[in-house]
Amino acid sequence: MHKVLEVSAADFQRIVLESPLPAGVLFYSNDCPICASVLPLFERMAQIYAGKILFARINRDFNRELSKQYYVKASSTILFFSQGKEFCRRLSGYIRTPELRCTLEFMAAGKCECPKRDKIECDVLILGSGPAGLTAAIYTARAKLYTVVVDDSFVGGQVATTWHVANYPGTNGVIRGIDLVGNMKRQALDFGAQIDDMQEITGIWLDGPLKTLSTTTAEYAARSVIIATGAHPRKLNIEGEETFTGRGVHYCATCDAALYQDAHVMVVGGGDSAVEEAVFLTRYAKKVTVVHRRDTFRASRAAQADLFKNASIEVLFNREVIAIHGDNFVNSVTLQDVLTKQTQQMPIDGIFIYIGMQPMSKLFEGQLALDENGYIVTDDKLRTSREGVFAAGDVRFKEVRQITTAVGDGAVAGKMAGRYLSEIESMQLKGEGKE
Ligand SMILES: Cc1cc2nc3c(=O)[nH]c(=O)nc-3n(C[C@H](O)[C@H](O)[C@H](O)COP(=O)(O)OP(=O)(O)OC[C@H]3O[C@@H](n4cnc5c(N)ncnc54)[C@H](O)[C@@H]3O)c2cc1C
Repeated sequence: MHKVLEVSAADFQRIVLESPLPAGVLFYSNDCPICASVLPLFERMAQIYAGKILFARINRDFNRELSKQYYVKASSTILFFSQGKEFCRRLSGYIRTPELRCTLEFMAAGKCECPKRDKIECDVLILGSGPAGLTAAIYTARAKLYTVVVDDSFVGGQVATTWHVANYPGTNGVIRGIDLVGNMKRQALDFGAQIDDMQEITGIWLDGPLKTLSTTTAEYAARSVIIATGAHPRKLNIEGEETFTGRGVHYCATCDAALYQDAHVMVVGGGDSAVEEAVFLTRYAKKVTVVHRRDTFRASRAAQADLFKNASIEVLFNREVIAIHGDNFVNSVTLQDVLTKQTQQMPIDGIFIYIGMQPMSKLFEGQLALDENGYIVTDDKLRTSREGVFAAGDVRFKEVRQITTAVGDGAVAGKMAGRYLSEIESMQLKGEGKE
């Protein structure tokens, strides 16, 4: 079977629970940008694991009771079933190819055959297809450089998970995140860039004139590399956070706020994202408690003004969440006063964590200079500590991380990679002339 079956609550028992094959079931909803991006990944996996795993999808909007029965509260969530029972760890929210692939490998009992690898040589290899990577691709492909963009997830980066973007110039006010990056992707493809998304990266070597990247399906060799791997929400790393991710712990209010109609939710953090998303959550939740470990917010004055005039929001300064509790779903947290160290339990229905971002730079540790927070260090030409390797967007050390600055970085990195390649070529020509 090569496709993802659309299943309803009425035929869930027959198709999923009674299936002779183990099953992966994607719970999605309409108007959910993450779901729109995860669906193609799920479909791709259905092809890879055809005959070994059954792939089904359930629209949560039309199957609320079933979603409730399995405590599915996040968009999107993948549950795994075998012999009528849920098994394996469910995946939720920002689902990445390697974690899905790993779970599926386990389910298929290691019988999956890896496809033969391709060999791809290019002028510019761009890692990451968010706004920085796609802009760099537009510049290098338009300069007639053979450009390949590799992403280990779906195209679009964080913007693809953003419902509305209101501050990107030239879009007449508001644009859907998925449309904005969709336009960038089309532009890059039209100029001739190749985009290989949903790849599993197994290694990267940035030393020497030819840099190489290997994935489970291909070997890439490039004369220059632009790293645009962005960032992901930082975790609190406290008891209960991992257990309840997708079961009441969230990192994206735009994606999951609608699940908390008339509920009491908590927001953790004190920056712009925390304050703005707390206000956004009051569209659904009847009460939002914002917990911040300092005695003032870092958010802009405008964002704070919106928050403080909102009667549905309660603010707890000098407090930290030190544990998240629940049964099948989050039902309370332990708070600690940072000054007195006194603790208290607070019942809540869900918690949204906004404590900053984590650069996606682990792959480059030991190969590139990183700052103490893991951001790639660049100069004003976006050169990294390795010749021929550039970094752009949220993954590099800088002050402002926005779509506009990612796009600006992409343009600079694209131009500089082109200039680097021209210089190499002219040096080689001169060298040849001398001989
Ligand atoms: C919910 C939300 C709302 C936001 N709203 C706004 C807004 O309204 N306006 C605004 O200006 N900014 C907004 N931002 C911030 C903005 O989205 C980011 O600043 C911007 O997307 C950064 O672009 P980027 O290309 O550097 O990285 P990203 O968008 O993070 O893209 C990085 C890409 O690299 C891929 N990747 C990661 N690791 C690897 C790897 N090892 N190999 C290959 N690929 C990899 C990822 O899958 C991803 O596709 C928002 C962010 C979020 C999360």
